Amino acid sequence: GGSGATQSDRQRARMRLSLQEHLWEFYQNNVNIPTEEQAVARRAALDICAELRVFLHAKLPDMPLREMYLSGSLYDDLQVVTADHAQLMVPLILEKNLWSSIPGEDTIMNVPGFWLVRRENLEYFPRNSSYWDRCMVGGYLSPKSVLEVFDKLVAGSINWPAIGSVLDYIIRPVVPSETLTLEVQYEMDRKLYVDFLPLLVMEDGTSLIAKPHRLAAERHENLWRQSFRVAETARLRALDQEDGGCRCACLKLAKAVCKLNPALHRLNASQLTNTILLLCEKEGDWTREALADRFLQLLRALVGHLEAGRLQCALSPKVNLFCELTEQEVDELGYTLYCALSDPEGLLRT
Ligand code: GDP
Repeated sequence: GGSGATQSDRQRARMRLSLQEHLWEFYQNNVNIPTEEQAVARRAALDICAELRVFLHAKLPDMPLREMYLSGSLYDDLQVVTADHAQLMVPLILEKNLWSSIPGEDTIMNVPGFWLVRRENLEYFPRNSSYWDRCMVGGYLSPKSVLEVFDKLVAGSINWPAIGSVLDYIIRPVVPSETLTLEVQYEMDRKLYVDFLPLLVMEDGTSLIAKPHRLAAERHENLWRQSFRVAETARLRALDQEDGGCRCACLKLAKAVCKLNPALHRLNASQLTNTILLLCEKEGDWTREALADRFLQLLRALVGHLEAGRLQCALSPKVNLFCELTEQEVDELGYTLYCALSDPEGLLRT
């Protein structure tokens, strides 16, 4: 009868309240990184970046690069659990008339969100007119070959032990690593991983990064990955700023849950950010009091996208952010999250 329904309503409200309290408690204790820890990690990354700039200017003065810079969640206050990684962005300068970009959907691979960068005008400007011609494979600029150039430099010709001892860090290139990564031990028990990320900024502002397609068959090797990170992070933050919302907190909770739960490792920041952005189009209440509801809704939305095998990028609907997951991974993620819907607190037990 009526009173029964009221009772179960009340019970459900109580459960939500308790989930809410646990989420905020988990946020304080496990997700958020102390300011001091973040500052020390940023300092270490900055020191390394400064050394690399000096080294590259001295050793390769004619390599056409813009100034390298650090980026990633550590710099957006979106890193969670431990301050342990950052990206070192390395922007290459390409001659406008010698290189053009072709969207992945217009190629035989048909993958939106990836691009080919083709060498143009070879008849008038023969090979080696552009510095980056040395990284040309089959008429295209190869991200793999660009990474190899930096790999040789960074892993091969920089005296990291010497630099490390000056800076009082232990620095070593991580081998093997498909992206080029430095491991920096900056305190007895603290390590920071710095990824080199070569980057192209095309004329229309499109950012392409040298991060290979995960299911890289040989024919995918020349593909550059479009990066939406700056725009999607900015959009999320702007929405929070408009209404003092908890979207970023919700994202950080979800990132922490995925980082701490091995069955969810395959979900990345971009997929979670875009799921929240899509949710924002339907759902307006992101007050702190709504956190538990929104967090559950985020889990449900993820389950839905996984069932569909497709998660569209909020900034570019053609892009499927699940396109690098295998069918089995999609099933496993969906199953784990589906189970979590009936016991969301289980996700917070670490
Ligand atoms: P987190 O690593 O989960 O904390 O998330 P981030 O938001 O820092 O994302 C870092 C990941 O995004 C790395 O795997 C990068 O390769 C990738 N990525 C794609 N585009 C960019 C970009 O423009 N900047 C940075 N820093 N990373 C990017």
